[in-house]
Amino acid sequence: MTETVLPARMAAGDPLMKQKNLRGKIFHLVDPLPDRCVRHGRSAVAHPLVNVLSDPDVDDLHIGLLPHGWGSPLMRWAARMQRAVVVQEKWPLCRICDRLRRWGLRGFTALVLCGILLVVASVVARILVGEPRTAITWMVVTGFALLPLSLLPLSLIRVQWLLRANTVTDGSAVIVKRPHPTFAEEARQISEAHRASH
Ligand SMILES: [Zn+2]
Repeated sequence: MTETVLPARMAAGDPLMKQKNLRGKIFHLVDPLPDRCVRHGRSAVAHPLVNVLSDPDVDDLHIGLLPHGWGSPLMRWAARMQRAVVVQEKWPLCRICDRLRRWGLRGFTALVLCGILLVVASVVARILVGEPRTAITWMVVTGFALLPLSLLPLSLIRVQWLLRANTVTDGSAVIVKRPHPTFAEEARQISEAHRASH
């Protein structure tokens, strides 16, 4: 599998650099990114600020008294947020990628809001009607079903999916898996030019 390695580091002169424990610290890419998207190699039209998180080793974490494997994925997610190293950068997105990101965000928000509204409305309806009705039960069921469904559009804006990017655990690089050849080639050229000028 092809991959592009983008070196990263903390801002020069950052006092945190001296600390041994780098987890939860913010890094930046050493070289500028090509101005085209990772997936299609097309010219960028948007540059949202993105946090690319590392996958910390959470197996060494003692998560309460829960047996091994329990407590995930929520606890794993919390551990990841708490312990991950972040490479923060403005990432190039082409028209298609940017549209996917917008759809993902809107879809997620819409499903969550509809889910909550249906549950709240069913509680109000139950109080007003004063007795159980099939329609009210369906409102509750649909409302709660929409909440996990909202994870589907959310997966569209996952950094690992949209940018195919992951930060290595010590924050020294971002690995882009299966980059578009044009993106990979431009990243290589930028990196070489940057090395030559220093
Ligand atoms: Zn794209």
